[in-house]
Amino acid sequence: MATLVEKSRSDHDKIMSRALDQWGFEGQITKTFEECSELKNALRRYKRGEAKDKEVITEVADVMIMASQLAHYFGSQKVKDEINRKLSRVERRLGETSDSTFA
Ligand SMILES: [Mg+2]
Repeated sequence: MATLVEKSRSDHDKIMSRALDQWGFEGQITKTFEECSELKNALRRYKRGEAKDKEVITEVADVMIMASQLAHYFGSQKVKDEINRKLSRVERRLGETSDSTFA
């Protein structure tokens, strides 16, 4: 069985559309809150040595799926453009500071 990542871009878009159609945008916003909270909690446990990599990986995947649905809703190209803009900013900052934050 193919994973989400192995699916083609058009399959991915179809799944995003179906999820939004079935559960609605408002429902997916609520689900995004839940998944972000689960990732935050998994990272907190991981930082304390109480969670394994697999738990964090699962929660990262959940958040990425929800973020993909939001990108699909708001416009995937707009989000890609913003990611590129922000990564360029991060790249510039890498040589400027020893700040420990990423984005
Ligand atoms: Mg989750």
